[in-house]
Amino acid sequence: MLTNDQLAQWDRDNFFHPSTHLAEFARGNVAQRIIKTAEGCHITDRDGTRLLDAFAGLYCVNVGYGRQEIAEAIADQARELAYYHAYVGHGTEASITLSKMILDRAPKGMSKVYFGLSGSDANETNVKLIWYYNNILGRPRKKKIISRWRGYHGSGLVTGSLTGLELFHKKFDLPLAQVIHTEAPYYFRRPKDDMTEAQFTAHLVAELEALIEREGADTIAAFIGEPVLGTGGIVPPPEGYWPAIQKVLRKHDILLVADEVVTGFGRLGTMFGSDHYGIEPDLITIAKGLTSAYAPLSGSIVGDRMWKVLEQGTDENGPIGHGWTYSAHPVGAAAGVANLKLLDDLNLVQNAGDVGNYLNAQMRAALAEHPHVGEVRGEGMLCAVELVRDRDTRKFFDPSEKVGPRIASALLGHGVIARAMPQGDILGFAPPFCLTRAQADEVVEKTAKSISEAL
Ligand code: PLP
Repeated sequence: MLTNDQLAQWDRDNFFHPSTHLAEFARGNVAQRIIKTAEGCHITDRDGTRLLDAFAGLYCVNVGYGRQEIAEAIADQARELAYYHAYVGHGTEASITLSKMILDRAPKGMSKVYFGLSGSDANETNVKLIWYYNNILGRPRKKKIISRWRGYHGSGLVTGSLTGLELFHKKFDLPLAQVIHTEAPYYFRRPKDDMTEAQFTAHLVAELEALIEREGADTIAAFIGEPVLGTGGIVPPPEGYWPAIQKVLRKHDILLVADEVVTGFGRLGTMFGSDHYGIEPDLITIAKGLTSAYAPLSGSIVGDRMWKVLEQGTDENGPIGHGWTYSAHPVGAAAGVANLKLLDDLNLVQNAGDVGNYLNAQMRAALAEHPHVGEVRGEGMLCAVELVRDRDTRKFFDPSEKVGPRIASALLGHGVIARAMPQGDILGFAPPFCLTRAQADEVVEKTAKSISEAL
């Protein structure tokens, strides 16, 4: 059997890790952790250290680890039919069943599912479909996509452009010209202290209107947003945000893409974030929670009005020239079917709402008076603690002080994984939906302790 030292050496010699400071990794300054097993909300590494994973991997292992029902569905599918493609009308029982299960759960007005492998490729598909749609409609100029600063939509060329985080643009020559960004709906960092939430929403709407006016509505095809900003800092929208934004988009015939890669399939306590906020999207991006990450699978759920145009367009243009070898991969689809069943059978969406809101309430109660906690915010099984130098004056830490990573590291020492969000001063929590109240209490108590130790 390989020793841990041998694996760690191979890791340093051969493995190009995503989103990693490569030079620090080579110098041995990035902690290597080799995960071996996992069960429920806990992972265990090869050293035998057991950790409560309060970020569900990358907010994706929603049903929790070690679910035999999903493992068996994957194994059965691989034995019976490991692969067949989905081109020109081919399908499998798993992929067809999953498409029906998704549509049965989707917000109203959705028509079909196009399967991919990751959130990034699903958003890439969305942009291509949007451009195709406007070309079919004879509007070749209507192509720009509006995204929000702090939005996260993937790290491909178009999707990295949609992502509104500088780290994902820097030295990649992004964003591409077709993508424009508008202000983030981030009330805690509002431009004026005395703005109410409703005034802030009105300000965001005015900003969007001004952007559309500047660029010309005839050049703007779509607006993309996560119902709750995720990687940008776990930020629920201010009061009235989505209905007000939607009204502007409708007025200018701009499509709306709800990126539900994090919020889809229950994280907010409703099946979709769109249900939670009354969003009526033209496209919905799904990934992570579709299979709880037991196998890579994503999808673009296409709404009625786009579907009709795409379908009719093929009469004139022939088949749509877009597809991946692994679209609707049967093993991924089998994982998806088993995962969605489990969500229902164990009432996990309800639990995500109940225990998630309990986690948020307890975190707020424990940290409300802390001088370095500016805000505790969240919705369902999403929770963020934003650290500030001074809570009364909303004076922020400098990102170089790395307060988030310092606290996350202290928390790890107490056996809990949280995510130091890329901004540097936000601690994120997105546990599996099977989290219990006792585990939520443990996360809160250890977070409070770690903040005091690290600051
Ligand atoms: N969209 C959102 C909202 C995400 O959070 C992510 C990943 O975290 C993506 C898209 C990209 O998904 P993937 O990493 O599977 O490409």
